[in-house]
Amino acid sequence: MIKLNDEQRMIIDSVRRIVAREIAPRAAELDETAGFPQYAVDAFAANGVLNCLLPAQYGGVELSMLMFSMVLEEIAKSCAASALVLIAQTDGTLPIIHGGSQALKEKYLPRLSGESRQLAAVAATEPSAGSDILSLRTRAVRKGDKYIINGQKCFITNGSVADFFVVYAYTDPSKKARGISAFVAEKGFPGLSYGKNENKMGMRGSINSELIFEDMEVPAENLIGQEGDGFANLMQTLSLSRLMCASQAVGIARGALRYAIDYARQRVQFGKPISSLVPIQFMIADMAAGVESARLLTHKAAHMFDDGQAEEAGTFAAMAKFTASDTAMRVTTDAVQILGGYGYMKDYPVERMMRDAKLTQIYTGTNQIMRLVAGRALSLPPEN
Ligand SMILES: Cc1cc2nc3c(=O)[nH]c(=O)nc-3n(C[C@H](O)[C@H](O)[C@H](O)COP(=O)(O)OP(=O)(O)OC[C@H]3O[C@@H](n4cnc5c(N)ncnc54)[C@H](O)[C@@H]3O)c2cc1C
Repeated sequence: MIKLNDEQRMIIDSVRRIVAREIAPRAAELDETAGFPQYAVDAFAANGVLNCLLPAQYGGVELSMLMFSMVLEEIAKSCAASALVLIAQTDGTLPIIHGGSQALKEKYLPRLSGESRQLAAVAATEPSAGSDILSLRTRAVRKGDKYIINGQKCFITNGSVADFFVVYAYTDPSKKARGISAFVAEKGFPGLSYGKNENKMGMRGSINSELIFEDMEVPAENLIGQEGDGFANLMQTLSLSRLMCASQAVGIARGALRYAIDYARQRVQFGKPISSLVPIQFMIADMAAGVESARLLTHKAAHMFDDGQAEEAGTFAAMAKFTASDTAMRVTTDAVQILGGYGYMKDYPVERMMRDAKLTQIYTGTNQIMRLVAGRALSLPPEN
């Protein structure tokens, strides 16, 4: 159990207030219309929450991973899609924070400072390269002071609304993982166009886009680190992204549990609230135990990142990701069950939460891949 100090409690209370005022009342409509929650971006930006991990030297609030994890939980309790906007934003900036030269950091990170509403994204996935990221086909070729990039990305969160994004491409496919490089590209760069925005099952209030590169011109100075650094840079970002996804899943599960308990207390059948029925109490006990376990594991992984144990934290983040997302799926499904027929109706939020929860088992590395990552790290002897 984590004890927050006064400042940390103030941050969480303030996020709770923003969510209650700006995010929760519009979550159902956002899901229904599948728009983009610009109001959420505006509210997050105005309250310094849009760039939680941005270092203070670039005008950010530089929260710890643990605090950011709790912020994401608070938002996802009411609207997981709005939390996803923040996760994509962070995914798009971490590669620069971790691997960018001083000049590249100076070029992009201050754009996010203060109440900036600029948006970022990370573009790795391609139609032929999902879990198997090494099979990506996007190529970057250096020509003078530019890289010329050709290829296509898909499913990119914030893709068509991002002001800039990090794109991964092969500069030397013969070198496999060591031949992938990362670049910062901007909306409006010559050769960049957008395909469709996806029509999704859940998280409908986030935008997921196809990005198309036809001789896209990127200044050579926008290379992150050196040629060949891209794969390691992506893995470092994904490690943290999995923790963010776990936090979002914990939030969804907490939101569904809270709603199911409130509903069970007021729904009367056979002359008494269904919360007095032992089968319902058993479900609620299992849901609560799952939520608390997933939350503790997620907080532990976050704390390990904050404590500088990056490698072990990556393994814990993978475990937290599959544990929390499987919990969110189970808890939201049970919440629908507790609401009976009403749970199946769009008038109640739990069916949305169930659809939203499904994504957390898939994106930022599927739960099968997460089990591979954690299983391998825990089972094999350390490499020399
Ligand atoms: C809504 C949404 C948002 C996303 N946002 C982004 C984003 O912002 N940026 C980005 O780059 N990507 C993004 N993605 C992509 C996401 O990370 C991939 O969808 C995910 O990694 C899985 O890849 P895939 O969809 O190609 O599935 P596949 O890799 O084709 O997997 C299909 C199935 O096979 C299983 N499988 C594959 N390989 C193995 C294996 N070796 N062992 C066991 N099982 C295996 C998988 O677990 C899965 O069940 C997003 C996806 C979605 C749906």
